[in-house]
Amino acid sequence: MRYSSHPHFTRRSALLGVAGLIALPSAHAVKPKAAPASATTDIWPRDSQVPGGVARLSLGPSSARPVARTAEGDVPLLVIGDAIEWTALVGIPLSATPGEAIITVGSDAHRLPYTVAPKQYREQRLTVAPGKVDLSPEDEARYNREREHLAKVMATFTDAIPAMLAGALGMQVPVPGRRSGSFGLRRVFNGQSRNPHSGMDIAAGTGTPVVAPLPGRVIDTGDYFFNGGTVWLDHGGGLLSMYCHLSRVDVKVGDFVKTGERFCAVGATGRVTGPHLHWSVMLNRAMVDPALFIAA
Ligand code: ZN
Repeated sequence: MRYSSHPHFTRRSALLGVAGLIALPSAHAVKPKAAPASATTDIWPRDSQVPGGVARLSLGPSSARPVARTAEGDVPLLVIGDAIEWTALVGIPLSATPGEAIITVGSDAHRLPYTVAPKQYREQRLTVAPGKVDLSPEDEARYNREREHLAKVMATFTDAIPAMLAGALGMQVPVPGRRSGSFGLRRVFNGQSRNPHSGMDIAAGTGTPVVAPLPGRVIDTGDYFFNGGTVWLDHGGGLLSMYCHLSRVDVKVGDFVKTGERFCAVGATGRVTGPHLHWSVMLNRAMVDPALFIAA
């Protein structure tokens, strides 16, 4: 197996081929090089090799789907494509150190390096109820229990559905509304530094229905200390999404939701300054910028 691009395809033309498959499955799939140059912007998730981004790494051609994993942590990766060109989609944690990073490919764990470029995220200062920053012993214990539970939820890895393996990973925005673009902001609550913001906030009123951005299975629901009313969806292949601060949850663990199907409602529960949807997208256990997946 080769891990570089196919000799008869440049990496760019191979990517354009993937774009063609997304846009027009029947017509363009047979002649990928006919796709317009702008088609590179129609590939989801978009390639963004920075902390909080997604690296699209070509694994070249192979008759069978290669198995790929992060070298650090040995986490399985989502590999999409077909026998002509496989692509590993690698979620890069916000905590990643810029520089060389490595995935391993195949049963011989061939090492494939890529480069994480630096990205400086801005600082965001917020004021919330004091008890949501300086936790009481009871709240601290509750938060620690929730964190252990969520670590198990986040480790979910199931087979991806065939349409997604073919590259149909463009997501519908879960609620209409102003998107904050606050992913990655270094947050300071009531003057104290806390974890960076690992999702997208969308302004919407309490009760606004939230729709599924992709098909998925409900793997967790709950009412958490910081996140409030929460639903996790599993889209397969280590691609998960999380919806927080909900006023209503209309699904239970095990349910399937289709793209565009309503499954919960916006609220102001948990640590918030007002009603909005917090939406996170997780790939190989790394929270990545949901904006990279938005197709419409
Ligand atoms: Zn948020």
